Amino acid sequence: MKYGRCECGGKIVERRIKYLRRFRGQLFEFDNVPVGVCMECGERIFKGTVLERLEQLTNQRQIFRKKRVLSVGVYTL
Ligand SMILES: [Zn+2]
Repeated sequence: MKYGRCECGGKIVERRIKYLRRFRGQLFEFDNVPVGVCMECGERIFKGTVLERLEQLTNQRQIFRKKRVLSVGVYTL
């Protein structure tokens, strides 16, 4: 799946970033999240499948008793 073009017309390049997001009122930190970043304006574009995956990871509650950092690097899109 391609990111296409940003609204500003800039080129979008995939990066792996650290991403903080709140699910069900709890803040989670995700490592190595694939995201499209516009080279012109810096806009971040997330694929729907990535966001779904992040939410799935937050359902694995046993992980968060130790540490709330999740890596999605093993997940191939
Ligand atoms: Zn842009």
